[in-house]
Amino acid sequence: MTKGQKAAETRKRNLESKARIAAAQAEALRVWNSGKCPCCGAGLRQNLAISGWIQCDQYGTEGFRKDSTKPACSYQGFTK
Ligand SMILES: [Zn+2]
Repeated sequence: MTKGQKAAETRKRNLESKARIAAAQAEALRVWNSGKCPCCGAGLRQNLAISGWIQCDQYGTEGFRKDSTKPACSYQGFTK
């Protein structure tokens, strides 16, 4: 493989990676705007540790999720 071919493949991979990230962020934003977790239907909250980080209200162990009497949910996403 020539240097030029290698560089072209790297550019292609980078573009594909950017597209995957953009699609995941668009999906997370759609979920955030819906106000409901796509896995369990609970509400959503922002995790302020990282800008754009959203999580299900039921994310986390007992005492950390909104309602500890209900099961935990692992949904999270990034809107940016
Ligand atoms: Zn959930």
